[in-house]
Amino acid sequence: MKPSHIEHLGIAVTSLEEAMPFFEFLTGSKCYSIEVVEDQKVKTAFFKVGEVKIELLEPTSPESTIAKFIEKNGGRGGVHHVAFNVENVAEALAEAEAAGLQLIDKAPRKGAENLMIAFLHPKSTKGVLTELCQQPK
Ligand code: ZN
Repeated sequence: MKPSHIEHLGIAVTSLEEAMPFFEFLTGSKCYSIEVVEDQKVKTAFFKVGEVKIELLEPTSPESTIAKFIEKNGGRGGVHHVAFNVENVAEALAEAEAAGLQLIDKAPRKGAENLMIAFLHPKSTKGVLTELCQQPK
């Protein structure tokens, strides 16, 4: 798949408001974008660490996969996924499928920041929920 870099780390939090001061302290930067992704029932907040971003994810509904993740994690947040930047998500998905990996998304969809994204199932990625993303043209 040959990703160019890690695009972001997705970190689940119970509350953006509560978590943001820590991430401002940690990264020495202000959150530069807050966005609701209806599709995934999350509210996201982004920070930059060099070229890599940190995506904080707060569930907007108990139905959100992030809410379920937090519940499984004893009510705490934590690292949820690792996102790799690829040239073309559709091609990377086809490559992953051909390699026998289990896909969560059969086709790319729109994520936060207008990225085209797709997830690979942690069952076939050594337990790490893996996101592939492609920059908007
Ligand atoms: Zn992500």
